[in-house]
Amino acid sequence: MFTVGLTGGIGSGKSAAAARFRFHGVNVVDADLAARVVVEPGRPALAEIARHFGDGVIQADGILDRAALRRLVFDNPAERRWLEQLTHPLIREEIISSLAASPDTHAAPYAILESPLLVESGQSALVQRVCVVDLPELLQLERASARDGNSPDQIRKIMAAQLPRAERCAKADDILDNSGSLAELEAQVDTLHQMYIKLAAQA
Ligand code: ADP
Repeated sequence: MFTVGLTGGIGSGKSAAAARFRFHGVNVVDADLAARVVVEPGRPALAEIARHFGDGVIQADGILDRAALRRLVFDNPAERRWLEQLTHPLIREEIISSLAASPDTHAAPYAILESPLLVESGQSALVQRVCVVDLPELLQLERASARDGNSPDQIRKIMAAQLPRAERCAKADDILDNSGSLAELEAQVDTLHQMYIKLAAQA
C-alpha cells in the first residue's frame, strides 16, 4: 500500500493533522502506539527487558515503568543500543502489520505512518513519501508546553534531542504549514489527501 510518513517535532501538530487524515478514511498508524504495544504485558520483549534490567523496570501492575527504563538508558549508549536492538525490529513488524490492515478496514487508497522520529529511526524506509508538519520553533514551544503542562525548559530539551527544523524540512516531500489556525491546517490536509489519492493510483 502507498504509505506517507507524517512527522514533525513535539507539539508541531502531527496528531491534529492525523485526525484530519482519519476523517477522510485514511488508516493512520501511530509509531508511538506500536512502540508501546510491543512491550505490553505478555509480550516476549517485556520479559527480556525485565531479565536484562531487573524487576525494577516493571510496575506492581505488571506494566513497563517507562520512566525507570528511560533513566537507565539515558546516559548509557550501550544499554540504549541493547534496548533498541530488541525493540526496533518488533516495532517495525507491528507497524507493517498495522499498515497491512488498511485495505480491509479503511476507505482511502493509501495509509499514513505517523511518527515523531520517522527520519531519525529509519522508519522512513517504510514510506514512499514524507510529509512534515512545520511551524516556527517559538510557536511549537508554546503549543507543546500548553498541551503537556511541561515547563518550556523541558520542552526545549526534547526539541534539542529531535532533528532541527531545517534538517527535517529538507527531508520533506510535502510540508504542512501549521503556523496558522487549525482550520488552515485542515484545508492543507484536504489538498494533500486529494494528491495522495492520485499518487496511490499511479504507484
Ligand atoms: P504533536 O502530535 O505533533 O505533538 P498536536 O497535534 O498534539 O502535536 O498539537 C500540539 C498542541 O497544539 C495541541 O494541544 C493541539 O490542540 C494544538 N494545536 C495544533 N495545531 C494547532 C493550530 N493550528 N492552532 C492552535 N492550536 C493547535
